[in-house]
This record gives sequence, structure tokens and C-alpha cells, in this order.
Amino acid sequence: MRKSVSKYIKELSQFLGSAQIISLVCHHNPDGDAIGSMLAMHHYLTAKGKSSYMISPNTLPKFLKWMKGSKEIIVFEDEPGRSTGIIKKSDLVFMLDLNALSRMGKIEDTMNTTGNVRILIDHHPGPEIEADLVISEPSISSTAELLFELIMQLEGNPYLENRFIESIFVGMMTDTGNFNFGTFDGNTLRNVALMLDAGLDKDFITDRIYNNFSDSRMRLKGFALGERMVVLTQYKTAYIYLYRADMDRFKHEVGDTEGFANMPLSIDGIIFSVLFIERKDHIKLSLRSKGNFKANSFAGKYFNGGGHINAAGGKSGLELIDCIKYFESLLPELHEYM
Ligand code: 5GP
Ligand code: MN
Repeated sequence: MRKSVSKYIKELSQFLGSAQIISLVCHHNPDGDAIGSMLAMHHYLTAKGKSSYMISPNTLPKFLKWMKGSKEIIVFEDEPGRSTGIIKKSDLVFMLDLNALSRMGKIEDTMNTTGNVRILIDHHPGPEIEADLVISEPSISSTAELLFELIMQLEGNPYLENRFIESIFVGMMTDTGNFNFGTFDGNTLRNVALMLDAGLDKDFITDRIYNNFSDSRMRLKGFALGERMVVLTQYKTAYIYLYRADMDRFKHEVGDTEGFANMPLSIDGIIFSVLFIERKDHIKLSLRSKGNFKANSFAGKYFNGGGHINAAGGKSGLELIDCIKYFESLLPELHEYM
């Protein structure tokens, strides 16, 4: 039980008590934590007799589509009118796993024009969102774990319903790279222990999350490491870049490059790693680092992004080649972030 979470319980309980229709929204390109948090909250609210709706800005990656309840998630991009209607009629909107409205993709405009009560639940540093209640705990592994704590404290006991713990565990597991990096501590593992004691099927979940890829995705990974990785030992930096043509060649699907940004950090001496992906109208950067290197400050200063100290994202409007040249030109100044 985390003491830092207790301060939110009274207000959270009041907001929940007076709401009947509740929308849950998450960030664009949802990951395991965004979807896990949304599903967990949905299972909990439904059990409490609330009408709960889950809305994701865009489609889910395949490695999450097996999750119980995931078929009920409404994709804003596919159904903008219906999604907006639901958000408008909601008594309460939970924004999960994001620290800026701009992270919500196309949902942002809707959020700017509706005046419903909103609650932020998130673990990214420096939330830039105004809400009726801001629940922000950057020291916790994942939004899902924060939610597990909040609901445990709301209920006075661990809430261990089967679908709920499956969803929570997926968020915790994916945001820590299977309990390998990121922020986690004794409390995180004690929370996992509660779920295991309650019958969490960790082998099934691990298999669905990590052994769920197509053969072409495995080949894309091999290609990225073999042909598209550059190691700059003098700057303790390595990067991988992928053109749209590369992605097409390996029949890329949403979620296929998940984890690629971390791979160069396995090289001895490398503490900063970037994945550049050529998208239709911009370059998407995923930045990863070790130790005190502030990937989020770097992403914020040069690539219009942000995130966590060791895992951040950003964008560039340059051509891929020019974006990489620009990135390399910044490396001599890197000591500022170390
Ligand atoms: P990823 O590289 O997996 O897309 O993102 C890594 C982390 O950086 C995530 O925690 C995500 O929330 C954050 N992030 C990714 N892209 C952006 C962005 O464009 N802006 C901000 N502020 N954060 C981002
Ligand atoms: Mn998260």
C-alpha cells in the first residue's frame, strides 16, 4: 500500500459517487499501459454498476487485441461522431496514461469543446493538463499500478477480480519491459504478489504479449539490427532508422516496432538510443536512455516531445536523412543531459 496515493481517495470517491456515465480515454498509439489501464477501470466501473465507455484515439496494436473487453474499445478515428457523442453525454471523463492533451490525437479537439468533469490518472512527469482532479504519481511503475493502488484504497482491500488483474498486470509488465527497467520497487512486486495469489495467469499473459508476432515482424527486427543500426561509441549513442519502404517490405502492422528503441541499449557502453521511423507526414522518434540521461528533456528541447527520463518520444517535420543529420549535430552537446 502506497501512502502517497491516499491523498486522492476522498475526492476520487466523491467524483465516482456522483457520476453514472463515465468515459475513459487514453493516448494516441496506445501501449500496454494505456489499454491495460482503460480496461481495468472499465471492468471496475462496470462491476460497480456504472455505464463505462472506453475510447482510444486510434487502433490497438495486435499484441493487445486478445485482452478481455478489448473489443468494446471504441476507436475515435473510426467513429468520431459516436465517440464525441459519448464524451459529451458523460458525467465524468478519465484521462489515462498521458500528461498533455496533445497526446490524445484527434480526441483533443473534442476534449477542448466539452466541459465535463475530468480526472487525470497518470505517471508521466510534469502533467500539463488541467483537470478537476489531477492524480499524478511519476514514482509509480505504470498508470495501471497507480490505478490498482487507488482502487485498493477506495475499496479498503485489494480488488482482485480476474479481468481487472489481467489488465493491471499488462500495464505494469509492459511499462517495465517485463520487470526489467523503468520505475518499479518493492511495492510494485508486492502488488504483483497479491495478483499471483489471486490466480493471475502470468504465463498466458507473458505468452500473449511477448510471443505474439508475425514472422515478418521478426524479420523486420533482424533487418533493423543488421542494416539500419548506427553505433556512435564516442557519444555512447546508437540509433536505428526505418523508412516507410522498409516497413512496407516487412508488412508492418501497428505495434511491430514496439521494443525496437530499447535494443541498442544492450550494447556495452551505450546509454542513449533513438529509433527514427518515417511516417506519412513526419518522423516519429522514440528515445531511450540509461541512468540520469534525461531523454525527455532532450526530446522536449529538440523534437517537440517529452515523456519519462529514460523513455521519451518526439517528432520532426524534416526528411529522415536530414532529421538524422540534425540529431547527429546535437550529439557533441549531449553532456548537458547526462
Ligand atoms: P514511445 O517511444 O514508446 O512512443 O514513447 C515513450 C514515452 O514517451 C511514453 O511514455 C510516451 O508517453 C512519451 N511520448 C511519446 N511520444 C511523445 C510526444 O510526442 N510527446 C510527449 N510529451 N511524450 C511522448
Ligand atoms: Mn504508462
